[in-house]
Amino acid sequence: MPPEYSVPNDAYAALGDETRLEILFELADHYDEAWSSGWLSFSALCERVSVDDTSRFSYHLGKLQDQFVVKEREQYRPTIAALEVVTAIRAGTYDDTTTRETTIDASCPHCAQSLLARHHNHMLTLSCSDHGVAMGYPVPPIAAAHHSLETVVDLVLQRHAAHVESLRRGVCPYCWGPATLSLPYEEIPEFILQYDTVYATAACEECWMSYPLPVPELLVSHPAVHALYAAHDLEPPATHLGSNSLVNLSDVNLLEDGGANVTISLEEATLVVELRDDGSLEQWHES
Ligand SMILES: [Zn+2]
Ligand SMILES: [Zn+2]
Repeated sequence: MPPEYSVPNDAYAALGDETRLEILFELADHYDEAWSSGWLSFSALCERVSVDDTSRFSYHLGKLQDQFVVKEREQYRPTIAALEVVTAIRAGTYDDTTTRETTIDASCPHCAQSLLARHHNHMLTLSCSDHGVAMGYPVPPIAAAHHSLETVVDLVLQRHAAHVESLRRGVCPYCWGPATLSLPYEEIPEFILQYDTVYATAACEECWMSYPLPVPELLVSHPAVHALYAAHDLEPPATHLGSNSLVNLSDVNLLEDGGANVTISLEEATLVVELRDDGSLEQWHES
């Protein structure tokens, strides 16, 4: 159960003001110089922000202090939370509304068609014209202005694998809070569950993060799985997409203690990995 949710009184109210956001943007822009010349003093920071009187500036800075700005040796340094606010605003409000599409070198999980990658509206989707979206991942508009769609797709697949591994180890990939996995998941509508396999639910106890995840995907970073794919000249994205994806090659058997055995069959080879209810993995059979 998630804890009672409450908005920290001062923390987020502090951001609802243009001057305070301007202070955070100025501090973020000073990051580079801070390595050599240190962070900004009160007067240096005040000079950069468009506020006429010092006491008003002091009031706004005070509202940011501790949560977003830390004062050390008479200098003001932004916290990670402050930098993340700036990053989210910059990446998300980037002025680019183009839609980009390309077919990628991976097939639909359900048929032989190549998937279409599409970046639009803060989302990258990989989809098949007959079977719909195989994968969706948030990618802010700023990516479209600087990186090829092929690069974005590659990195999304890598990040997805890293997120799944983080969840398996009980760490929320977004806020670093405690994440739990429960299997099997029975309450989500069937149209969301695209694969004929057992799903787990990953959920964070501290933030918004919650999504269904096919159990075989939780094995994506296991060394024995990598070795099995490599032995068949396969490398990512083969583990995520197409006819050789982990989901397609695996059988999942739920165990009474809350874990599951995942049997992966690739040509003549078979690998069985046990996923324990605490998320740990144990390889116990290979042939
Ligand atoms: Zn398809
Ligand atoms: Zn979280």
